[in-house]
Amino acid sequence: MIRMICWGAFVFAIYWFGFRGGCGTSGALACPPPELEEGVGVMLDAREVCSGSGYLCAGGRSNFQVIRWGLDKGRLRVRVPPVEFLQGAAEKRVREAVVEGIKAWDRKPFPIIIDSGDYTLRLWDIRVVWTQGMNNHAAGQARVGWQVDGKRIRMETDGMAVVIPPQAMAGVDEALFEFIKSVTMHEMSHALGVIWHSDSPRDIMYPQIMPNTRAELSERDLRTVEALYELPNGAMVQ
Ligand SMILES: [Zn+2]
Repeated sequence: MIRMICWGAFVFAIYWFGFRGGCGTSGALACPPPELEEGVGVMLDAREVCSGSGYLCAGGRSNFQVIRWGLDKGRLRVRVPPVEFLQGAAEKRVREAVVEGIKAWDRKPFPIIIDSGDYTLRLWDIRVVWTQGMNNHAAGQARVGWQVDGKRIRMETDGMAVVIPPQAMAGVDEALFEFIKSVTMHEMSHALGVIWHSDSPRDIMYPQIMPNTRAELSERDLRTVEALYELPNGAMVQ
């Protein structure tokens, strides 16, 4: 009995210090001031919020609620499972492209932990879902939801879909690698809470991946997410 309790304490300690990883733990973000995370009911002036914040208020949309992950999570875990319909080198290459696309957002703001083993404990925040095509012909999709919990927002994702085109079966060349990586970077920005698209093809959040799109985040891409995480979570911008 004592032995079982010790085991339990040991497993719990591993979970607490190793996996939980909330703010203030080793390698995670510092804990934010409470007012930054308790923004439900707060009103913000769009003129102040929208200037110098990338495409946060793109298309003249300056009436929205701030919905993002709580900074007190400290870090984000992203599950990248094996691609069930690919094998060998192609499978490995596709996963590398997606991992690179996700890691482009490392520490912007969250330290990102990639979970890409064959098996997983269900501890991830965002999960990649592989697909060979979608009804709307999009190259990816991030489904984001949230709940209001008092003054706080609890964000959640129902998976981040990345389309793997059929030619990947025959191998992943450099262009396809860049394409998959670009799609992942774009969807990851949505998964971080950026709802809208950029009007500039130079940004990864342009609605289309152009033939010459470089898998790179622009200054504006970075600034938009940074601006989002500077706002009180749940606040209304008007
Ligand atoms: Zn998009």
